[in-house]
Amino acid sequence: MNFAIETRQLSKRYADKVVVSDLNLQIPLGCVFGFLGPNGAGKTTTLRMLLGLVKPTSGNIFIRGRNALADPATVSDEVGAVIEVPTFFPYLNASENLAFFANCLVKPGGRTISDLLRLVGLDGVKTKVGKFSLGMKQRLGIASALLGDPRILFLDEPTNGLDPAGIREMLELIRNLSNAGKTIIYTSHLLGDVQSVCDRVGILDQGILRWTGKTEDLTRTREAISIHTGDEEKALRILSEAFQVRVDENRIIVETALSDAPVIVRALVAAEIDVLEVRPVSSGIEEGFFDVIKEGQP
Ligand code: ATP
Repeated sequence: MNFAIETRQLSKRYADKVVVSDLNLQIPLGCVFGFLGPNGAGKTTTLRMLLGLVKPTSGNIFIRGRNALADPATVSDEVGAVIEVPTFFPYLNASENLAFFANCLVKPGGRTISDLLRLVGLDGVKTKVGKFSLGMKQRLGIASALLGDPRILFLDEPTNGLDPAGIREMLELIRNLSNAGKTIIYTSHLLGDVQSVCDRVGILDQGILRWTGKTEDLTRTREAISIHTGDEEKALRILSEAFQVRVDENRIIVETALSDAPVIVRALVAAEIDVLEVRPVSSGIEEGFFDVIKEGQP
């Protein structure tokens, strides 16, 4: 299989500190990959190694099957990146800034400026970049990273510092870029956002890849059902005979898959208990994340 990114035993050491340790990462083409991990886990160092900005101590990097360490042109051919808040000329507008950077790129086949501005939601905006919000600057940064029409895009904490509206716009942009065929790899601490937009995640901790897989597999194992009944005590007694149960704010939480809901409802009705509400509860990505950090698996 041809991965967008594949690393083999990729490691980085600063003096005697191992920052990334024997990283074997396989990121399929076309996915949105969320790179998670506590502060100092080594996420940015990994992105920098993938971009050729930091030299690995050992290991190998393949980008769309090309050996990126042996052939440095691989990165500029295949990848666009926004690693820090991008800087632009404040006295030019978005279109003028992109035109400047486009002229610096001697690369045929790139996207047109109006295409890119439309893609990132900045078409028709005449404001000088100096007056842009952080979210607008981030989106212009992404447009700039897409000038050469790379297939793979790296974003380092793209929602960092954005207000809720800015975060929503950024997540929508990531979805649009994914629909346009880009493979997107991004680091974030905002697990809810990652859950809503990423197909796959990788969790790095102290330089070690603790877990990687489909986002749903980080949450799916913790499915539960929330039930509101007319007789909580009796319902609790009946359900606890067959299930793991707990009470949370007038609701009984049954730790089981949603597919057990009919069985549960039938048992309650048979015991003449009124069933007022039944809802699925997904524990969310947080618990899966912390389980991986503590125990190595969700
Ligand atoms: P955060 O979520 O806080 O951005 P991160 O997962 O991106 O963290 P990195 O920035 O990759 O983590 O840093 C990993 C470790 O490597 C940290 O302990 C950091 O101090 C160390 N480190 C990074 N760059 C250097 C450097 N140039 N010299 C020495 N140590 C470094």
